[in-house]
Amino acid sequence: MSEHLFLSDLHLDPARPGITDAFLDFLAQRAPRAEAVYILGDLFEVWIGDDDPSPLARTVAGQLHALAAAGVRVHLLRGNRDFLIGETFAVEAGLTLLEDPTALELHGVRTVLSHGDALCTDDVEYQAFRAKVREPAWQAAFLAQPLAVRARAARELREASRRRSREKPEAIMDVNPAAVRELMARQRAQRLIHGHTHRPGRHRLALPGGQGERLVLGAWDEAGGILVRVDAAGAALERFRARAAAFA
Ligand code: MN
Repeated sequence: MSEHLFLSDLHLDPARPGITDAFLDFLAQRAPRAEAVYILGDLFEVWIGDDDPSPLARTVAGQLHALAAAGVRVHLLRGNRDFLIGETFAVEAGLTLLEDPTALELHGVRTVLSHGDALCTDDVEYQAFRAKVREPAWQAAFLAQPLAVRARAARELREASRRRSREKPEAIMDVNPAAVRELMARQRAQRLIHGHTHRPGRHRLALPGGQGERLVLGAWDEAGGILVRVDAAGAALERFRARAAAFA
């Protein structure tokens, strides 16, 4: 059947165990029917290093590894919350890390995958922060600090980011149309799949080479989330309903 599933923005957090339950239900019930699963960033609400002995990370890695062992290829592209995920976690979870952006051919349609934060170019302040924390030197210095120091720094960064987000107009928090067109032209892609904005939907695009499309993934909650499914028939949004939520 050759079905590929895309999801993002689970923001898994020990403070919200219902979302983890919904994701584990997805891994057990829905994901095994796919040929490949692509997690396009912000799987975790925060990530301070692969050496963090977080029980949540161990549980999620174990279940992802079981999925991979059952024959489903699992890929992870890091988001703005979990950009510090590294090879150690990737091996533990049996998944392949992807660069942002990554382009691939799916049933004859060149498709580019991105978390989406790099496309929010109107948010100049955020792009400067993003460039800084993507530098290998910044990351090495951050990861060299004790876990408790990293945890405190991550908390302060998130609070500052929340304060600033509240002050920003809605429009600058969305992707910039010119940045989308530029990325798709550079990757010679007809389709873009991304998350980050928490505005799930499907948008037609007029590209120089013809029609294109942009599919936006949704953020998860305890009831499940909005995914993208790609198969021979094309791409479609799909709502995954977690079992616990279905009976609530
Ligand atoms: Mn994000």
